[in-house]
Amino acid sequence: MTTMHNHVPAPRLADARPVVPATGALTPLPLDDVRLTGGFWAERQRINGEVSIDHCDHWEQRVGWIDNFRAAVDGTVAETRTGREFSDSDVYKLIEAMAWEVGRTGDERLDARIHELAALIGEAQEADGYLNTRFGRPGQEPRYSDLAWGHELYCYGHLIQAAVARLRTGHDDELVAIARRAADHVCDVFGVGGIESVCGHPVVEPALVELYRATGERRYLDQATLFVDRRGHGTLPDIEFGRAYYQDDVPIRDAEVLRGHSVRALYLAAGAIDVAVETQDDVLLDAVEHQYRTTLARRTYLTGGMGSHHQDEAFGDDYELPPDRAYCETCAGVASIMVAWRLMLATGDLSYGDVVERTLFNVVAASPSADGRAFFYTNPLHKRVPGATADPDTVSPRALAQLRAPWFEVSCCPTNVARTLASLGGYLATTSDNGLQLHHYAQCEISTTLGDGRQVGLEVRTRYPEDGHVVLVVTQTADTPWELALRIPAWATGATVDGAPATDVARLWRVFEVGEEIHVELPVAPRLTAADTRVDAVRGTVAVERGPLVLCAESVDLPDDLQVDEVLIDTTVPLQDHGHGARASGWVVEHDDTSWPYGPPVSLPRSRQVDLVLIPYREWANRGPSTMRVWIPTAG
Ligand SMILES: [Zn+2]
Repeated sequence: MTTMHNHVPAPRLADARPVVPATGALTPLPLDDVRLTGGFWAERQRINGEVSIDHCDHWEQRVGWIDNFRAAVDGTVAETRTGREFSDSDVYKLIEAMAWEVGRTGDERLDARIHELAALIGEAQEADGYLNTRFGRPGQEPRYSDLAWGHELYCYGHLIQAAVARLRTGHDDELVAIARRAADHVCDVFGVGGIESVCGHPVVEPALVELYRATGERRYLDQATLFVDRRGHGTLPDIEFGRAYYQDDVPIRDAEVLRGHSVRALYLAAGAIDVAVETQDDVLLDAVEHQYRTTLARRTYLTGGMGSHHQDEAFGDDYELPPDRAYCETCAGVASIMVAWRLMLATGDLSYGDVVERTLFNVVAASPSADGRAFFYTNPLHKRVPGATADPDTVSPRALAQLRAPWFEVSCCPTNVARTLASLGGYLATTSDNGLQLHHYAQCEISTTLGDGRQVGLEVRTRYPEDGHVVLVVTQTADTPWELALRIPAWATGATVDGAPATDVARLWRVFEVGEEIHVELPVAPRLTAADTRVDAVRGTVAVERGPLVLCAESVDLPDDLQVDEVLIDTTVPLQDHGHGARASGWVVEHDDTSWPYGPPVSLPRSRQVDLVLIPYREWANRGPSTMRVWIPTAG
């Protein structure tokens, strides 16, 4: 496939990164300054660029979501429109993925496709900047007649984020002009004295702040601040799920924890952090950080996934984390990374890298199939019944999706994965005035400028997380001391840097020399993990993790057609390394499927010992239908 693409050297792009705060403890690296050179993430990024982006484009054409814009221009959209009310946003997220990919590789074919799509979208935009294929045209409901469910501002949010990606990768083009017209329209209509409401689905908030950062236009920041402050006062209608569903129950400054629809709550949190950082509002920043930390402590799955409820795609109560009914939408994983990354930039707390890493490996990387042509929408931690193989030629209803599917009726997740993978380099490292912080141990080359202007460079050589050896080679340095800070994951008990014990953050402050090697050892041997007893749904079970990877048992690895619910794990037998997973000792239990399943507490009758092979959770369902579980009941 690569041969079909023409690549031109991209210009050096000082601002090419997903989040560019004006202030904060740490500064993210432009995509030009860091290049994934091999290993797991480089391969995922390659497949994303060569397969998944085109796959999403193909499906968006096929299901008519791109043609909706054509029909809007032709005046036929009221009769012919396809897709849900927010389908425009998926076209915008696709363009954002393309924009980061063009910025990363200089792919001319994708660049031309962006121009083609922007030309069409521009034609569909109305004279005053309004842009949506679902509302406002003859035969359709009026503009902004359903702010709770209409997603008009949500669609602008993704349009604006696509434009910001375009602008930051050196293209001040038609797409950017469209997004600015739309943003100006939003400020005109929803500003002071305008419609005093918010969108049922947040995302315009972080988008407007990012557009302010990319253009310097202050009114976009002011509008985002208005949206953040307006929410939580019963602005939107009370609904079946309550106003908490769209975070309109409590002002964001007063909330204790994230609640309601997970993706909405997390996008809003990202926007509130952006507003807080740009307006130096520490009270708001502290409030959102507190809510996110509480959410990590009480409402987050082992995988980093968020959202326990299918019915309203919402967080559950504290510790309500059933593995079989986990929703863990892929988009919530992406959104949680957006929040954690922003908090880390603002506060300088490198431990947020732990949750970013956990969520990248166990949610974002779990979604796409190995070939990049099918995706998980939900990411449960336990599958009781083998799922059906999705037809590669058919749209899946998301709730019934069994194995990874090529496309969904609601298809927010595939393009969210695509834009994240295309911009992934931007999440690996940061700089401060006198230091470089390495957050993720991916094989990469970094060449960047510290805040004080000194040039430094680093090459990261590793097969992590397959093994835990990481060699850092200094490739550029100053003749004065600077600090290299290395995140040591919380699970990495016994980690060393150049032989010295390391925890939390290893900080090396010295005059480095070109060619100097730093050796990091992260013990990735398989380990048992137990849950807080208040996570009732997994009491009496353990999980196995290996480095940052959550492992799972899958029935295709069990002998004699056993299913995962028929096996216990023997925690007295040491775990063995097995590829990039693990091997444990299991016991088969004899269940009685026909009688009353309750009785006096007794040990389950074990019949025989079996090898229990555990694979990375992200790889489950790659070998056809299976049963699967992360949390495994213990024997004895
Ligand atoms: Zn989604």
